[in-house]
Order: sequence, then structure tokens, then C-alpha cells
Amino acid sequence: MAALVEGSSVAVRTSALYDVIGVGFGPSNLSLAVALEEHNTHNPNERITGLFVERQESFGWHRNMLLPSATMQIPFLKDVATLRNPASRYSFVSYLHASGRLAGFINNQTFFPTRQEFHKYLEWVAAQFTDQVLYGSEVIGLRQSPASDTAGTPAYLEVDVCRRGSPLVESVRARNVVISTGLVPRMPEGIQQDDRVWHSSEFLTRFRETNPADITSVAVVGAGQSAAEITRFMYDTVPHAQVYAIVPSYGYALADDTPFANQVFDPGAVDDYYFGTERTRQAFWDYHRNTNYSVADDEVIRDLYRRSYDEDVRGGRRLHVLNLSRVTEVKRGGDETRVLVSSSDVQEIVVDVCVFATGYHNMEATHLLGELDRHCLRDAAGRHRVGRDYRLVADPELGCGIYLQGGTEHTHGLTSSLLSNIAVRSGEITESVISHRRVERELAQALPAEPAGR
Ligand SMILES: Cc1cc2nc3c(=O)[nH]c(=O)nc-3n(C[C@H](O)[C@H](O)[C@H](O)COP(=O)(O)OP(=O)(O)OC[C@H]3O[C@@H](n4cnc5c(N)ncnc54)[C@H](O)[C@@H]3O)c2cc1C
Repeated sequence: MAALVEGSSVAVRTSALYDVIGVGFGPSNLSLAVALEEHNTHNPNERITGLFVERQESFGWHRNMLLPSATMQIPFLKDVATLRNPASRYSFVSYLHASGRLAGFINNQTFFPTRQEFHKYLEWVAAQFTDQVLYGSEVIGLRQSPASDTAGTPAYLEVDVCRRGSPLVESVRARNVVISTGLVPRMPEGIQQDDRVWHSSEFLTRFRETNPADITSVAVVGAGQSAAEITRFMYDTVPHAQVYAIVPSYGYALADDTPFANQVFDPGAVDDYYFGTERTRQAFWDYHRNTNYSVADDEVIRDLYRRSYDEDVRGGRRLHVLNLSRVTEVKRGGDETRVLVSSSDVQEIVVDVCVFATGYHNMEATHLLGELDRHCLRDAAGRHRVGRDYRLVADPELGCGIYLQGGTEHTHGLTSSLLSNIAVRSGEITESVISHRRVERELAQALPAEPAGR
């Protein structure tokens, strides 16, 4: 019997066999939804069916870091569609036009909208795909189709979905699954999050739950963009608080976004990385890690320095940048939070809140793959082998496609967890799904029909 999974605005027939199920509906799989739709519009006889499963209740892109005045770190032209299809109706320019702000945005003379505005753009695109997304639903695992079902019907994957508030696990079927579950927050070893010790990924929610009047001192740990933005936000928003920025470097280092270096984010750089030698791949990281990792934008660095210098002029210090410093321990007791900071010596700071902007782990698909992982081939270093088309390389027993959007730094390079290349990448995945389906259909037609009665 076909069960029906009721979503907020989508009803999914669990007996249906989708061509593509996307796990997660962040910008990467949103971009895939656009690519699939544009393919279907231009190829009505070769339609691809898609469904996306997203654990958040509605579309949201790093909502907890939508700080006022924080800007994008990619130009608006690297939206979910333009680099693949400059005429797309899902481009950032189309959004501006639909919102009546195209002329106003042009007058602003910037390539870099605020994150708040880009979020509104992503929500605007996502709102056009609500009939394909199961929100408030988490994929908890993938399984191969049962052997008995494989006779006659093509192989498929069972995608196990848990809907918020329901004890039941529903299964949805797909020929291909595209995993795009995003980065995973990273805390230093041994340090636990709680109501006073936060990771930057939960920042605004935690901050709104706290009475700013209760914050007399705060520590922000890390030297990247998020750390610098949170330090500035705390300094400006809680004007009576002492703000300690604990940075491992000698000060915030600049993100290199100069034009030659920026080419590492071009679609063509993916080929140079993927087909490069071990030495050339390593060169990408050695020379260009500072385009993205543990670095901050010029604007926020100068903003913070200006505040620090103004304090020198006025006298009285509230912004304390502790350089060459690392947090070795956080001791919690009631409302008290003691942060042990190691630099040339060890000092203890007592704060009301300690925010760890200590980055993220790359996406890891292994836990979702479960049993299926044994079919997926690994390289000498134990990492998944991934085709140029982002499809996991697997043994022939896995007759379906599992694609990764994220977690492919070792094969596809620096853009793997970023927005820069999502439009082109989604187009490449769409192409791959189509070409595999064509080959399978041709093979099925070429095979002699099963004799009757068997
Ligand atoms: C604060 C911040 C700012 C950034 N700014 C930029 C920028 O300006 N430019 C840039 O290029 N990159 C930026 N990045 C990098 C970031 O990785 C990308 O912006 C982007 O989020 C990648 O999109 P994604 O869809 O792959 O992942 P995500 O945006 O993380 O989306 C993954 C989605 O999957 C859902 N999910 C996870 N597990 C499951 C599951 N089991 N079942 C169902 N749903 C699930 C999550 O709820 C989430 O919505 C930024 C990152 C941060 C943290």
C-alpha cells in the first residue's frame, strides 16, 4: 500500500520512484532543484523527478550568523544559477527585479550584497520549490532496494525519513540521491557547548535568549571571518561589555580575494584540481588556503582596528585582542565561566559568555550511507573516491547513483563547501543523472526479453 507522507505543502507518495532525492535543502540542493527544473522546461520528453528533504522547518541559510551589515564573500553573480545559465529566472538579478530594487542595488555599486539580502534572495528562490521539499524532515539513512524488488524494476535506494513530531520512519524511493548536508560545527576538544559556551553556528539564537544587560564580559575565540564579525557585533551591541578576542595568530589575517588568487574558485579550477597531480593539488592548499580558511575580510579587520585605536585615543580599554593565544580549558560553574588562555604565559579570564568561532568539519556522508558504504570505494588515504561528476565511485552491486555536494575537498578542491561553484556543479550532476538514465534505458532495450513463465 502506498503510504502518504504529509509535508507542510507537499504530499509525497512513498511508492513513487523519484529520479533524484536531495538530502538537505541548503543553497547547494536549491541550486540543483533549479538545474533540474530548467532541464525539464527545455526537455519535456526527458523529465527528471526530484524531491528534497530538509530538517529545518523552513528554508534557512546560516540564520544564526545573519549579523547586521555582514556581507557576502562571493559576488552576487555567483548565485544559484547564473554561472550555469545567465538567462535564468532564478538569478539574483531576477530577484532584485521582482523585489523592485534592481535600480537601487545598482546605485549601491557593490558586487557583495549583505548576507541578510542574499538570504532573502535564497528564500525567494526556495519559495518557488515548496512543492518539492519536505521540510521538518530528517534523512536518517539510505538502504539498497530489497532483492525481491529488483526483478523487473530498476534498482533503487530507500531513503529513510523521520518527520519532526512523528515516531514513524517513512521510506521514499529514488534512483539517485544527492547528499548535501553541509558543514558540521567544530568545538575544540574537551570543550562542551551550553547556555554560556556557544559555537558561532548558534550565535544569534543564543544571543537573543540572553539579556544583554547580563553580559559584562565576553570572549570570542577564533581568527576567521565569523570570529571577527561576532567580536564587532558584541562590541557594538553590548556597549558596556569587556570584549576579549582570543586569536591564535598575531592578529586577524586578510582573506585574499585579489583577482588572480580568486581564480581558484572558477569552475575551470575544479578540472585543474581534479585532474592535477598530487603535487599540484597540494599547491592549491599551500598557496591559496588564505582565500577562505582562518582569514577575515579587509572591511571587518579595519573596523575592529579603528575601534581599538579610538580607545587608545580616548583612553580606557574595552576591546582586548589577545594574540598568539589559545583556549586550553573552560571551567563552568553556575553563571561563572572561567576561560584559560595560553600564550607566552597562562591567564584566566572570567566571562559571562564565551563564543567559539572555531570553524567546521567538512561534510561526511559515511553515517548516512550506513550499510551502503561497503559498496563505495575508497582511496589509499581511506577517503571516498568520487567521480568528476560528484558521483561516489562504487562497486557494480550498487546500481544507483549517490552524489555529493560538499565533502569533496580531496577530489574537487577548495570550492567543495562554498557557494562559488554551486550553479555549475548542480548542472554537472543533472547531466550525469540524465546520461546514466539514457545508458540504462539503452541497455534495457538491448537485452533480450525474459522468457515467459520464468
Ligand atoms: C556564517 C557563514 C557564512 C558563509 N558565507 C559564505 C559566503 O559568503 N560565500 C561562500 O561561498 N560560502 C560561504 N559559507 C560556506 C557555506 O558552506 C556555504 O555558504 C553554504 O552553506 C553551502 O551550502 P550547502 O547547501 O552545501 O550547505 P548548508 O547551507 O549547510 O545546507 C545543508 C542543509 O542540509 C540540512 N540537513 C543536514 N542534515 C540533514 C539530514 N540528515 N536530513 C535533512 N536535512 C539535513 C541542513 O539543515 C541544511 O539546511 C559560509 C558559511 C558560514 C557558516
